[in-house]
Amino acid sequence: MIKVVKGDITKFRAEAIVNAANKYLEHGGGVAYAIAKAAAGDVREYIRISKEAMREQLGKDWIDHGEVVVTPPLQLEKNGVKYVIHTVGPYCGGSWDEDKKSKLKLAILGALKKADELGVKSIAFPAISAGIYGCPLEKVVETFVEVVKEFLPSAKSLREVFLVLYSQEDYEKALKIVGQGG
Ligand code: ADP
Repeated sequence: MIKVVKGDITKFRAEAIVNAANKYLEHGGGVAYAIAKAAAGDVREYIRISKEAMREQLGKDWIDHGEVVVTPPLQLEKNGVKYVIHTVGPYCGGSWDEDKKSKLKLAILGALKKADELGVKSIAFPAISAGIYGCPLEKVVETFVEVVKEFLPSAKSLREVFLVLYSQEDYEKALKIVGQGG
C-alpha cells in the first residue's frame, strides 16, 4: 500500500523515516539537514552519530547505492519514529537514464529491506534525489512505485509505505502518477 502525502517528513508519524543522504552522511542541506536538525537539535551532533553508526554498521566511511545506515530517532521519537534509515540516491543534474534508475532502485530497495528486517510496519520516504541531486520528480516517483510494488507482496512486517512530498507542486505531480486522484 503506497500513500502519497504532502508535508514535512520530520513531522510525519511512521515507525521508520528515510533520509535522502549523501554518501558521507554530511546532512548539509535539503531533507537531510531538516531530519538532522529535528532529531538532534544540533545538526553537527547528528552527523557525528551518523558517521559513527556508519563505521559500526558498514565498517567504512561512505555509503554505496543500496547500502543503508540506521540511526536512532532521538527527538523524532515523539512522532512514533523508531529508526531513521539513511540511503543514497543517484546524482542526476537534470538528466535521467537507466544507470540512474537502477541506482535509485537500489537506494529505495535497500531502505525497504532494512525496515522490514527491523520489523517496521510503516515507513515514510522523501522524494530521494529529486532535490539537490536534480533527478526529474516524475521519474523518481515512477521508480518509487515500481520498487515498492515489487517489494511489498513479500514483505514480512511492512504494510504501509508513504511518499512525503514537500511542495504542493511535487505533491500534485506525484498524486497523478500514483493515481490516488485527490
Ligand atoms: P537529494 O540530494 O537526494 O536530491 P534533497 O534533500 O535535496 O535530496 O531533496 C529530496 C526531496 O526532499 C526534494 O523533493 C525536497 O523538496 C524534499 N524535501 C526537502 N525537505 C523536506 C522535508 N522536510 N520533508 C520532506 N521532503 C523534503
